[in-house]
Amino acid sequence: MFPNDHLENWFNGQGLWSQVSAKDWGNWIWQLQNRITKLDQLEQLLDLTPEEREGCYHANKKLALAITPYFFNLIDRDNPYCPIRRQVIPQGGELLVSPDELLDPVGEEGSMVAPGIVHRYPDRILFLVTDRCAAYCRYCTRSRLVSNAQDYNFHPELDAGLNYIEKNSEIRDVLLSGGDPLLLSDAKLEYILKRLKAIPHVEFIRIGSRIPVFLPQRITPRLLEILRLHGPVWMSLHVNHPKECTMELKAACDQIAFAGVPMGNQSVLLRGVNDSVSVMQSLVHRLLMMRVRPYYLYQCDLITGSAHLRADIAKGIEIIRGLRGHTTGYAIPQFVVDAPEGGGKVPINPEYVKEITEAEIVMRNFQGDEYRYPRSTPLPGNALDFLREGEEILM
Ligand SMILES: *Cc1c(COP(=O)(O)O)cnc(C)c1O
Ligand code: SF4
Repeated sequence: MFPNDHLENWFNGQGLWSQVSAKDWGNWIWQLQNRITKLDQLEQLLDLTPEEREGCYHANKKLALAITPYFFNLIDRDNPYCPIRRQVIPQGGELLVSPDELLDPVGEEGSMVAPGIVHRYPDRILFLVTDRCAAYCRYCTRSRLVSNAQDYNFHPELDAGLNYIEKNSEIRDVLLSGGDPLLLSDAKLEYILKRLKAIPHVEFIRIGSRIPVFLPQRITPRLLEILRLHGPVWMSLHVNHPKECTMELKAACDQIAFAGVPMGNQSVLLRGVNDSVSVMQSLVHRLLMMRVRPYYLYQCDLITGSAHLRADIAKGIEIIRGLRGHTTGYAIPQFVVDAPEGGGKVPINPEYVKEITEAEIVMRNFQGDEYRYPRSTPLPGNALDFLREGEEILM
């Protein structure tokens, strides 16, 4: 699909906004102020399908509509099936609720121990620090609170959250999320990182962000300095399609890496967006070229009104099977289902084990060929003496 991914095919640029000064274009506040947030703005820029128009009418009651000019330029305006378009332009399908779907699809509310803190795993927490994003993904797991279209009225109480982390010494890993933490002001972000860094049991901090993808202009020298000074910080990006891997994103990732921040990527498997081996392969190759290690591929959560975007779980398994052995091991994410009702992330793998008997394992490799490996080999009688001798020599 993207043969010989040459870097010159990665350029995004100012596109429809070519009359805007480079200074404004490169300013993240300008990008936020000029987001496309209304149906009439959208209709001036492209021909909406009837399904999209219907989705837009109701977006402000479900999950706000917002697209940065930078990201909008990635949309193929002549193609209603454009994979970028499907991620950010609402469709009528959002109004259909199927019986399996839930407002809180992974049961976060039940593990909310302090304002914005989801404490599900013993040693690490999710800390929601804002409900705002640069643009809104139509399949957002936290649609119930993100953008406040459903009147959740999320008010992060940063100090209450930080106090909880201070008091609970089993927490060694703090994952900042939201909303998008990089949308906070430099001062607020620095305050959070500084306080976390001062807590002896917090070993490192993670930031989950789609800002480099929606708004690479936000990756400023000052922000990079904050990340560098108050680390170790790891970053989880959210890139779903190779078209999102632009020169602008690559430049942002270069800078993030040079600030000493290792990056992973979390993709969501989406129907008509990235549910094929060829698209995923192109994506993971581009990610490695940007120093980003594919981390998770998520089965789309059972979010209210997301059926039109959810792919079959079998597709995810097929994608992993299509990558393992066929490309660099570093390029392969772990496919996971975040279990409903707070079960946490469960890895889902293609089956390579055909059989385990008392004597051996029978397995298939990536080409489907069968191999056998013994479970344990009995040691010859004098082997223990031999091992003991070896230990003495080592001492
Ligand atoms: C995903 C998640 C984490 C982090 O999980 P990892 O597998 O360590 O990346 C922590 N807390 C909650 C509530 C989560 O949903
Ligand atoms: S960036 Fe993340 S939190 Fe924001 S809308 Fe997209 S999925 Fe939701």
